[in-house]
Amino acid sequence: MTDHLISRSSSHETVVRKDAKYVMQNYGRQPLVLESGSGCMVRDIDGNEYIDCVAGIAVNNVGHSHPKLVEAIKKQAEKLMHVSNIYYTVPQAELAEKLVQLTGMSRVFFCNSGTEAVEAAMKLARAKTGKTEFVAVEHAFHGRTMGALSLTYKEMYRAPFKPLVQEEKFVPSNDAQAVADAITGKTAAVIVEPIQGEGGINIHSDAYLKEVRKICDDTGTLLIFDEVQTGFGRTGKWFCKEHSGVEPDIMTMAKAMAGGFPMGAIAAREGISFERGQHAATFGGNPLACAAALASIDIIEKEGLLGHATEMGNYFMNRLKKIPLEGVVDVRGRGLMIGVELDRKCADIVDFAMKKGVLLNCTSEKVLRIAPPLVITKEQIDSVVAVLEQA
Ligand SMILES: *Cc1c(COP(=O)(O)O)cnc(C)c1O
Repeated sequence: MTDHLISRSSSHETVVRKDAKYVMQNYGRQPLVLESGSGCMVRDIDGNEYIDCVAGIAVNNVGHSHPKLVEAIKKQAEKLMHVSNIYYTVPQAELAEKLVQLTGMSRVFFCNSGTEAVEAAMKLARAKTGKTEFVAVEHAFHGRTMGALSLTYKEMYRAPFKPLVQEEKFVPSNDAQAVADAITGKTAAVIVEPIQGEGGINIHSDAYLKEVRKICDDTGTLLIFDEVQTGFGRTGKWFCKEHSGVEPDIMTMAKAMAGGFPMGAIAAREGISFERGQHAATFGGNPLACAAALASIDIIEKEGLLGHATEMGNYFMNRLKKIPLEGVVDVRGRGLMIGVELDRKCADIVDFAMKKGVLLNCTSEKVLRIAPPLVITKEQIDSVVAVLEQA
């Protein structure tokens, strides 16, 4: 592959300058202005192409601008984009039915993002149990709004915003006894990511999840699975919970839900539901988002992307494990949610790969996250591995 970023058009500079001047500088951005995409590829404003192993942080599961997704959004946009939840719409009812089938849960509530889904789960758990506190796992990421932030581990994210909804109550990963010890008479729910995403692709074992389920049952505590990052085929199943067979009481979803259109939701089992007036979202489940989600789910089904993600994920991980990559401590993952842990910070590798036409990102500083669109091909994986070898 050729070196990118050599020549810079003035429009790239203009965009970067406007961002620096007019946008709050809360993001540490890569020096790339992305303009278009197709399948697993994205293209910058200067025409350079990249294999996208970021996928908008596990969002573009069906690939960039999939024609069927684009068509569904266009068709719905021409018909009806938004009406209030004081009315019914066809796409919302259809999507709700589909999600209940896919999750095995009883009912859903729609919102617009991951953090909102976590807020909804927290409110539902409080309303249902009459208890106020939550137990979360060290290195967890559940979002940035005040409730979700109080269950997010990183001190850097929390410190400027205290007091949060609750003080720290985190237990070590894969330690069921710690969960049992942390639950008190005030605990409404335990919240777990089946695989931690932002925390560094840390896999919670099936045995651990089963034990946590039992502890929750024994103590009358609700179990929430945060599947915002692991959902919609990312790990080779519709939802990561299927690997362990453990059923939560409430689950959150967002990121890949509508193929890149912003959307979130929770699903809960029989008997756990908001009552009239307890929660709402103006945009939640609007017809445009629901049409996008229905199309995205349909693409995953029709193109067999669950099986493909499993196959490509195994191929990717085997290649990464076999090649003696310098500084690699561990390669782990499920499906196309892969982490490559290094013995150093991975920012240099991310920069190098970008110059060679591969987009990657780091989670938790030392872990390279590989989460490409599920449509990635073997040839594209080979190209990514070749770049990593050089790095
Ligand atoms: C990304 C993420 C969130 C937050 O989602 P936003 O849409 O950014 O608010 C919550 N939980 C998990 C597990 C995530 O990966």
